[in-house]
Amino acid sequence: MDMDRKIAYFSMEIGLDAGMPTYSGGLGILAGDTIRSGADLKIPMVAVTLLYRKGYFYQRLDEQGRQSEQPVEWVVDDFLQEMPERVTVTLEGRPVQLRVWKYSIIGTAGYEVPVYFLDADLPENTERDRSLTDQLYGGDMCYRLCQETILGIGGVRMLRALGYHHIDRFHMNEGHASLLTFELLDEQLARTGQTKIDQSVIDTVRRMCVFTTHTPVAAGHDQFPMDLAQRVLGPERLASLQGIFAWDRTLNMTYLALNLSHYVNGVAKKHGEVSQHMFSTYVIDSITNGVHAATWTSPGFAVLFDKYIPGWRDDNFSLRYALSIPRAEVWQVHVLAKQRLVRYVNRECNAGLDVDTFTIGYARRLTPYKRPDLLFTDPERLRRIHSQVGPIQILYGGKSHPQDQGGKDLLARVFEAIQGLKEQVKVVFLPNYDMDLARMITSGVDLWLNTPQPPLEASGTSGMKAALNGVPSLSMLDGWWIEGCIEDVTGWAISPDHKTTETADRSMDATYLYDKLEKVILPMFYKDRDRFINVMLHAIALNGSFFNTQRMMQQYVLKAYFS
Ligand SMILES: *Cc1c(COP(=O)(O)O)cnc(C)c1O
Repeated sequence: MDMDRKIAYFSMEIGLDAGMPTYSGGLGILAGDTIRSGADLKIPMVAVTLLYRKGYFYQRLDEQGRQSEQPVEWVVDDFLQEMPERVTVTLEGRPVQLRVWKYSIIGTAGYEVPVYFLDADLPENTERDRSLTDQLYGGDMCYRLCQETILGIGGVRMLRALGYHHIDRFHMNEGHASLLTFELLDEQLARTGQTKIDQSVIDTVRRMCVFTTHTPVAAGHDQFPMDLAQRVLGPERLASLQGIFAWDRTLNMTYLALNLSHYVNGVAKKHGEVSQHMFSTYVIDSITNGVHAATWTSPGFAVLFDKYIPGWRDDNFSLRYALSIPRAEVWQVHVLAKQRLVRYVNRECNAGLDVDTFTIGYARRLTPYKRPDLLFTDPERLRRIHSQVGPIQILYGGKSHPQDQGGKDLLARVFEAIQGLKEQVKVVFLPNYDMDLARMITSGVDLWLNTPQPPLEASGTSGMKAALNGVPSLSMLDGWWIEGCIEDVTGWAISPDHKTTETADRSMDATYLYDKLEKVILPMFYKDRDRFINVMLHAIALNGSFFNTQRMMQQYVLKAYFS
């Protein structure tokens, strides 16, 4: 393992394996896919995150769709290798020891990118401190700030302890990792022998930092009351920056990262614009997200691509040649993935799904802005479409954040709707949505549905997974879909207009959704299969070839890492 790495990627969550509960949703999956493509492209990088011994939770659902959360039981050393290095961070004046575990990602040509998981569960620490790396997004504000200190400050220290001394880019994947800038400032002071942070110290650190923001909602940006921040981090630390940043009563992680990064981006074109508007005194670019193609392509399609597009794993752009794959083989491989999914669901849930029935998939983090209940706005209309235009069946999945009461209420509403439709339209809710389920659902349904309320979906990535498997999306024009949707070619838009604001009237969205299903998609699926397959092919050729992390990482390299 060479220590000559140039880029360190910091993320509060990284999804690498369904057996490791170290991610909650899109942000973590993106981080994992980013690193996988980094390894494929032999980008000299390392990644840092936290180890969550109890995970993001195991989801239990009762008959009414009430969610309870249980700690995930998993055996850390089945997945990770413990390293001998130890570092210390100071939290609320106490020293907290950290150890680290390594996971190796090996790219297509054998290049390794290590991912380091920081762990506070050591006998030297107090019970409370030992639990600091137990839960992802658990605990109170103090717990979170302690975690972010471990990630940012502990993470940089651990990289040094591991022998990485040539890193010249620190990539903060969302503001959770912003505190790494504090450690870099300290390092720079030590290097120059200065005692006070001045503009030249700031400029040096800025040149080293890159920041990707992920949420278009102001309230979604982490911030901590100043008295809490002073207690956890020490008053001197914040005082030394007071004159430089106009902080008042809160430590805002987004502003910290914005002030100390030389390159900042949003995760889709529209999200870049929304972020630019929100933080108008900074320059915010955009790099649209992607997914790791080989990870999210079903086994059947992988074989088909190997046959017709050899080398697609190393050159995702070549997926554009999918247009020349024989239609019949594409359909055959799709049916295979669908059969696998239907059999699984029938076995697990005794659901009686039918492989020939048009199947809609919807699964993601359940939270109000994603409107998981939009499809059930008018159950009568859904029933009518099902009985008069063509049968449909629906698969649902997703966890709600433990503290997201709005999300939990929606989960219960979805369950209620499922009950109400029971005798006619089959809707199955698959509990405990994770990477493995995601792989199966996004590849096995006929249509991927996404109903966010614009402009709140920064990007979204699950529709990209579907596209790689020839599954077209029916989605609101928001996030990546503004770029990915060509009507009737790669999929369909729910509502014709994306130039709307958060306060726009959305009362017609459900009607648009039903109209599109009834008048366009279902007739095409049942009566004009060739045209439907044509859309499937274009989903792969136009969207699979572009919305992948290989293209995304090439853009990060050009715009952020080596610029
Ligand atoms: C891809 C993925 C997500 C992200 O879904 P979006 O629809 O983009 O929000 C969330 N959870 C899991 C398990 C995933 O695999």
